[in-house]
Amino acid sequence: MSKPAWIIVGAGFTGAVVAERIASVLDERVLVVDRRDHIAGNAYDYRGENGLLIHKYGPHIFHTNSKRVWDYLSRFTEWRNYFHKVLGHIDGQLVPVPFNLNSIAQLFPSGMADRLSEKLVARYGFGTKVPILKMRADADEDLKFLSDYVYRKVFETYTLKQWELRPEELDPSVSARVPVHVSRDDRYFQDSYQAMPVDGYTAMFRKILNHQNISVELSTNYKDVCGDFKSARVIYTGPIDEYFNYSHGQLPYRSLQFKHVPYSQEFAFPVGTVNYPNEFDFTRVTETKHLTGDRGPLSLLTQEYPEAYVPGTNEPYYPIPTTATSEALRPYRNLARELDGQVWFAGRLGDYAYYNMDQACARAIALFDKQIAPVRQNGGRGQASRLA
Ligand code: FAD
Ligand code: UDP
Repeated sequence: MSKPAWIIVGAGFTGAVVAERIASVLDERVLVVDRRDHIAGNAYDYRGENGLLIHKYGPHIFHTNSKRVWDYLSRFTEWRNYFHKVLGHIDGQLVPVPFNLNSIAQLFPSGMADRLSEKLVARYGFGTKVPILKMRADADEDLKFLSDYVYRKVFETYTLKQWELRPEELDPSVSARVPVHVSRDDRYFQDSYQAMPVDGYTAMFRKILNHQNISVELSTNYKDVCGDFKSARVIYTGPIDEYFNYSHGQLPYRSLQFKHVPYSQEFAFPVGTVNYPNEFDFTRVTETKHLTGDRGPLSLLTQEYPEAYVPGTNEPYYPIPTTATSEALRPYRNLARELDGQVWFAGRLGDYAYYNMDQACARAIALFDKQIAPVRQNGGRGQASRLA
């Protein structure tokens, strides 16, 4: 293969989708490098010893409201319908999370449950979703009682475990990912498209990257090869602070340890995930069989243990959305802007943004449409050709 015109750092959603776009639409050569020994980034899955599909980096459930993203990915996979459900272990019971009218009915005596539910419906409307931090500001005595209960039993300790921060110390969008549902809909996500790739994510990525213009080098750190490709343009989906050698300090990330524990019966749980806000060091346990549709006499449980990210020892899974981190990101964004036209940063780590898979995919498509394609159309003259 001749020298690639483009180097893409990272074979996750962001990198793979941009690579496919450049290879098929622009008909240019792309080299994708990843320092891991596999494609698919954090969505990577593989078959374990007992034949069950394992999500190496924790449970990945696809959901989106974007028809564009859905149609795009549907070119590379067929789908299995799947609506994710989560139970939270609260006061000795397993109740639906996001917390909803069914959770109330399960946890409180019937008269009280009816009163709380009626108040919720009257105040917010049936079918609405209310972030817990918003509900806590409510002056009504019953709703105050309820929101304090949900805050303490569902959010406070889980969030301390996950982030070492309280819910109100994080950007409100974090706890708003799991709002109280004023309905009896137990699904974790409400998006119009919810499904799992039938053969798994890695198989889907193989197809995305299967193009004559794309080559992939695994177990390859960009730092070790960038000198060989000085004239190539770069899409960088690794941590933005690492790219700039932490010149403005390290951005904080949260990491996790995943423990994949065999289970000797067909099923351990009635649903895909059980959250443990208040007990244990792990936050949640996922029985991946529910997600993948695998069958068989044995099962597998994945536990997630949060921990601090320490470069060189573990992985930066989560950017930490706070006011302080958005300040700390600013100098890196400025440095990135100086490289516009030669290096583009994108993805959960490149943008330092808490993206879901569909958002990473949408970001990659938008990057291509608005910034990469116009560069090429203007004869590859970098800066001058950027769209606003
Ligand atoms: P990544 O997948 O992180 O890919 C970046 C790649 O870049 C990595 O493979 C890394 O090895 C590589 N890289 C970094 N630096 C270098 C370097 N210097 N040289 C070479 N390679 C490098 N989203 C959902 O929509 N639904 C879910 O249910 C869901 N569950 C999740 C559960 C967990 C525990 C986690 C952590 C995330 C979850 N996500 C989920 C989010 C999802 O993982 C991300 O949205 C998606 O993986 C982001 O893709 P990306 O390409 O931006 O980043
Ligand atoms: N959260 C919580 N209790 C729960 C579920 C979620 O406190 O039972 C909070 C917690 O801060 C978590 C955030 O809501 O990090 C987002 O949850 P989500 O399930 O979306 O997290 P992810 O799947 O991205 O790890």
